[in-house]
Amino acid sequence: MPHVVTQACCGDASCVFACPVNAIHPNPHDEAFALAEMLYIDPVACVDCGACVEACPVAAIAPENKLGPAQLPFVQINALFHQDPPARPAQAPVPPIVRIDTTRTRTPLRVAVVGSGPAALYAADELLKQPDVHVNVFERLPVPYGLVRSGVAPDHPETKTIARLFRDIEDRPGFHYVLGVDVGRDLSHAELMAHHHAVIYATGASQDRRLGIVGEDLPGSTTATEFVAWYNGHPDHAERSYDLSHERAVIVGNGNVALDVARILATDPDDLAGTDISDRALSALRQSRIREVVVLARRGPAQMAGTLPELTGLLGRSDLDVVVDGAVPTPTGDVDLVTEQKLAALRALPTADRPRDARRRIVLRYLTSPLSVEGTDRVTGVHVVHNELVRDVDGGVRAVPTQTTDTIATGLLLRSIGYRGRPVTDMPFDDRAGIIPNDAGRIHGRPGAYAVGWIKRGPTGFIGTNKSCARETVNQLLSDVNAGLLADPRSDQRSLAELVGQRCPDAGDVVAWRRIDDLERARGQASGRPRVKFTDIEELRVALANAAPPRAGRRLVRRG
Ligand code: NAP
Repeated sequence: MPHVVTQACCGDASCVFACPVNAIHPNPHDEAFALAEMLYIDPVACVDCGACVEACPVAAIAPENKLGPAQLPFVQINALFHQDPPARPAQAPVPPIVRIDTTRTRTPLRVAVVGSGPAALYAADELLKQPDVHVNVFERLPVPYGLVRSGVAPDHPETKTIARLFRDIEDRPGFHYVLGVDVGRDLSHAELMAHHHAVIYATGASQDRRLGIVGEDLPGSTTATEFVAWYNGHPDHAERSYDLSHERAVIVGNGNVALDVARILATDPDDLAGTDISDRALSALRQSRIREVVVLARRGPAQMAGTLPELTGLLGRSDLDVVVDGAVPTPTGDVDLVTEQKLAALRALPTADRPRDARRRIVLRYLTSPLSVEGTDRVTGVHVVHNELVRDVDGGVRAVPTQTTDTIATGLLLRSIGYRGRPVTDMPFDDRAGIIPNDAGRIHGRPGAYAVGWIKRGPTGFIGTNKSCARETVNQLLSDVNAGLLADPRSDQRSLAELVGQRCPDAGDVVAWRRIDDLERARGQASGRPRVKFTDIEELRVALANAAPPRAGRRLVRRG
């Protein structure tokens, strides 16, 4: 019985290298890898050994006969990718790894990583595979994991199982957290450099892009970034309030974030009650009167930013009605196999004019851009224009507005048009791309400083994309070590611990994080939820103080 990659695929390619018969593609050496929406198992080559199941960090792989009804489309999705396979070597080529020359540094290699999301932890993992390395992972919040904690939708628990991999990384000798410390405010880049051979910035892309239209800032118009952070209980956003008293919400953009937000707004709150969604968001959603969520795409379904696995997952939901507004527009040129499958799935959907049933519904509307947000005190609607598609000389497809406009009544407008990196103190910034300018991770003009993840390459890809991204950055760093380009730090780990203790007496380490993790899980147990997150930092501190082991156990100085 062949194995099948399903919706939660994170693309970190661990399965590719675990497979003894090279049946999982694309692999990180293939050009197609960077743009792949998921990985696919060749059902003919698969020998059913289950090695990929073990290797997958997000439980996305299962034998065909163990798939639930909503996962069955993935059998064909995997098979179609391999329908005409080229000749392949018996084993996937292993990506090059630079080995550290330990004679090049007089002390163990000490690296600071700023940020604690997937890119940061994959970078720490790559570094800690080398001998005699210490990694200090700095995080502004008292809790780690970045978007895995505050970005992944609560109804995607499989994706969150990546935390098991993060736990293994945290357990590696040489790994240290410095939680609750804001690099740029509490510690400067120069101070980090004084205590480390190198600093890797993994600060992500926490800003949202703007539409630049009239009314964008009216109450009732907000960003998906903030809305996602709200329902996930991010301490900076957990106390927000959203008016969900209208029949319809409109989301601009049709990437995976837009699909996440549409699903959360349209899901029966009773079905979210068993997740780690924030209590405040859950109770607001229980009061919600939203019955319809319109997802606006400025281009056609062939240019859909949302991925086939996410679309398939959405269409597999029997509790939601998903419809298309009008006919699915025909693409102007040839489309690839994945797009063909998206189009086929969308063409099979009913149109929005069919009679409504009792379920909440999501309406997918194409070739439509917002022109302005209507309302005086708050949003009452969005004025939109119908677009046509134009193919540019470079092959790109652009939306061009026509004269046809109309207004969609709504009380909640969510802009889901992509994330954007924030400038990092003391680092150069490419304002157009929203990234730190770098060559394969080496930051321009800052010897010893590197970037990884979204602040390096922009907000694209999946959790596992950060594995190959981290390997590339770490390879540059280790090459610089081997070339003798990184100076030994002037101060040691003990002096760093003292500095952190003076500036941030409440800074936590891995022991503190594990304690918080236990407390959150215990809070969830009573109500059958995976965890109930602390969404208020002060409340978290009090709970930790009441339940914590000796304070010194949380300090950086104890380890290393
Ligand atoms: P995204 O994939 O870049 O999608 C952005 C969307 O906004 C596109 O539909 C884009 O349309 C549209 N857009 C941009 N500017 C616009 C404008 N001025 N007017 C109207 N529409 C505009 O961004 P995202 O959804 O925020 O996702 C970010 C990354 O996280 C992606 O790589 C995504 O796959 C990943 N992610 C993955 C998951 C998952 O795997 N479950 C979940 C969430 C996020 P055009 O295509 O026309 O530019």
